[in-house]
Amino acid sequence: MNETRSAAGRRPAARLLAGPVIRRPQRTLTPEEREIVRGISTLNFQGALIMGIVDPVPNPSPMDEDEGAWVREQVWSAYLQKIERKYPFGFARWAMCERGTCWNCLAGRCDLCVHRQEGGPHADDNTDWVLDIRGRCVAKFILRPGGEPCVWWCRCACPKSDPTPETAAAPAEGEVAPGKAAGRPGGAVRRGQGSAVDAAQYALF
Ligand SMILES: [Zn+2]
Ligand SMILES: [Zn+2]
Repeated sequence: MNETRSAAGRRPAARLLAGPVIRRPQRTLTPEEREIVRGISTLNFQGALIMGIVDPVPNPSPMDEDEGAWVREQVWSAYLQKIERKYPFGFARWAMCERGTCWNCLAGRCDLCVHRQEGGPHADDNTDWVLDIRGRCVAKFILRPGGEPCVWWCRCACPKSDPTPETAAAPAEGEVAPGKAAGRPGGAVRRGQGSAVDAAQYALF
């Protein structure tokens, strides 16, 4: 419940920023870490892919890893720890700017890089929530009152600024009959892409 709300509370509010490509180091999973990823449920794997937390990179912190782990275990509420254990490298600890590679780039489909398709990074809306011990929301607070953006820009090194092949092909597609042939929004082309992406995701790990 909280997991859904926490994830949903941040994601729909994410907005796009026009700006230069942000290059941040990409994390390469060790064989042991890949085993951890393989061990989570399919649902949480999909969630981790969508949120970019299959290969997150922590920001520099005055706390080392052991100290951070102590705080999570000793200070965090039980419901947060429960969510944390469902994802390969945790859930609530990751800020937008610590997220890793998008699911399409992980699958080798850089032509479909999420941020290339969307023309910019996902930006945190700078709001978070004060929760009680059971995880119920009791207040809203503004993380960065100055409005400083905290953004997720897929860490893959691929170029994200030039038009994708399907973007270039889209007008021609639209002139004929967009989405009509398949009898549902998106049409045959989009549906075909979705299937290819889904198949690629399952083959990742
Ligand atoms: Zn890429
Ligand atoms: Zn990408």
